[in-house]
Amino acid sequence: MLDCAIIGGGPAGLTAGLYTTRGGLANVTMFEMGMPGGQITGSSEIENYPGVTGEITGMDLMMPWPEQCQRFGLKHDMSEIKKVTHNDDGTFTVHKGNGDTVDALSVIIATGSTPKRAGFKGEDEFFGRGVSTCATCDGFFYKGKEVAVIGGGDTAMEEAVYLSNICSKVYLVHRRDTFRAAPNTIQRVMDTANIELVLNASINEVYGDNMGVTGLSVQLPDGERKLEVPGVFTFVGMNVNNGVLKNEDGSFICDVNDAGEVIVDLRMKTSTPGLYAAGDIRIEAPKQVVVAAGDGATAGVNVIHYVDSVKNK
Ligand code: FAD
Ligand code: NAP
Repeated sequence: MLDCAIIGGGPAGLTAGLYTTRGGLANVTMFEMGMPGGQITGSSEIENYPGVTGEITGMDLMMPWPEQCQRFGLKHDMSEIKKVTHNDDGTFTVHKGNGDTVDALSVIIATGSTPKRAGFKGEDEFFGRGVSTCATCDGFFYKGKEVAVIGGGDTAMEEAVYLSNICSKVYLVHRRDTFRAAPNTIQRVMDTANIELVLNASINEVYGDNMGVTGLSVQLPDGERKLEVPGVFTFVGMNVNNGVLKNEDGSFICDVNDAGEVIVDLRMKTSTPGLYAAGDIRIEAPKQVVVAAGDGATAGVNVIHYVDSVKNK
């Protein structure tokens, strides 16, 4: 029986691991299906993590975190978790992808979020063959070529700037003529000579041949425009990864809102005793590394109290 099972090894899960182990829980395992670090490891640059100055990538930022946690005894089980069930005796069972199960007194859900698909024609057909959601991973394939970026949030605009350093030209395609990104990020886009804004544009389709994407058709107020690009990067928001909390009938083991985000209080406590949620998965998450880390610390501290109370009952 684990004292605590942490599901997800991004900034929230790793920080929860640090605080639970360093705070005295002896038996804590973090289940992370890939390398620890989370989605920020795919980001080309992070400039708003407090105390970190200079140009660093998300990978640079996250590299030391797992080792720091492991020093205090956090175990990493590299497994995908299919679901977490809440047992009649108040404990939890973690169901791994290989069919094995692990029981735990408490659980911290920190499974984060993943990029949404925009839903235009050709997006799924050409995904991985010209359509991408990761500029750091795939930008280099388009060195010296023209690409399109879809979206008007922080991710789209930051990644457009990143791609402008590799590609000959970046078309930033957005469905409105105002942006939700931070003002200084918008300014950086405006100041970049090889980014062309294509605004009030809805996507008709991405087209191509058996080699991959050859272009993007967009609908503008004055008609169709074809952008002859081999690469299309979509950054249109995120979905929370709440699948592990679903029962067979589609209901959840704790309360979630209409968007499927886990409802927590200021202690990161969910509606189910012993179940905590941290990071992008929770309601009203600003979707920031520093906040995810803070949530993980909050959840960790409160899980220690919870486990103590259960053991001393
Ligand atoms: P995640 O980082 O999403 O980590 C969740 C982890 O859980 C993942 O490693 C995943 O593999 C694992 N997982 C999911 N499901 C399962 C499962 N079933 N079983 C096992 N493991 C599972 N934030 C900033 O503060 N500054 C920035 O500059 C910034 N730039 C960004 C740029 C990009 C391109 C992106 C995509 C995001 C950016 N963000 C930035 C947002 C930031 O990355 C997130 O807010 C943060 O990573 C959330 O942390 P998290 O731990 O909640 O979740
Ligand atoms: P986001 O803020 O939700 O922005 C998504 C963008 O995509 C919006 O401009 C939206 O248009 C557009 N869009 C949505 N659906 C679309 C569709 N079907 N077709 C075309 N366009 C579509 O998502 P994000 O940029 O990924 O950011 C997610 C969160 O992470 C945010 O909270 C963000 O602040 C945070 N983040 C922060 C940083 C940072 O701090 N530096 C960096 C990256 C991300 P509309 O504007 O018209 O709705």
